[in-house]
Amino acid sequence: MGIEKLIEVNQAFVENEYAENIEYYKGLLSGQNPHVMLIGCCDSRVVPEITCNAKPGEIFVHRNIGNIVPPGDWNIGTFLEYGIRHLKIDTLVVCGHEECGAMKALSGKNPGDDAIIPGWLSHAGTALELVEKKGKKPSDPEEARKWQSELEIENVKLQLSNLRTYKVVKDAEDAGKLRVVGLYYRMSTAKLEVIDPGKPVKG
Ligand SMILES: [Zn+2]
Repeated sequence: MGIEKLIEVNQAFVENEYAENIEYYKGLLSGQNPHVMLIGCCDSRVVPEITCNAKPGEIFVHRNIGNIVPPGDWNIGTFLEYGIRHLKIDTLVVCGHEECGAMKALSGKNPGDDAIIPGWLSHAGTALELVEKKGKKPSDPEEARKWQSELEIENVKLQLSNLRTYKVVKDAEDAGKLRVVGLYYRMSTAKLEVIDPGKPVKG
């Protein structure tokens, strides 16, 4: 799908979905009030708004390769500060997924000649070490898939702890104003699994 296709599909969106729900879309012009913020993977097959049937304005989303949260990252830090302090969102999700190419690249340990990617993936290295401690990646394809899934889930847990290196997250969570949740999107079933339900916010 090149740019012509994108524009064509957008025109159909304007004429159908937008035209049929014009009041809703016009209402969005006055501001956003999302009820959840989510850090997910860039993978084009894993689209939180679609799998959660969310309308524009409902989920505040940050996506990057491997749903990684490096401590001290300006991009993520700005996303967190804006979502928590300005939009006053009380639920923060890290969502990993099955068949994550980033986690495959990490476990493949072949940096190739990429200049940037290995450094980014290194922020998930502790998750790989943890899973490898229990056993190396099996050669049997079915067992290897399970092992890979375990790595993807450990990565979610690691990134949840990385989130707490951001003062804005730690303070809001400690004050009972923010629930920090880990989810895993099982692509083979389209289901979201709860890895860590977090502590509910204080009413
Ligand atoms: Zn991914």
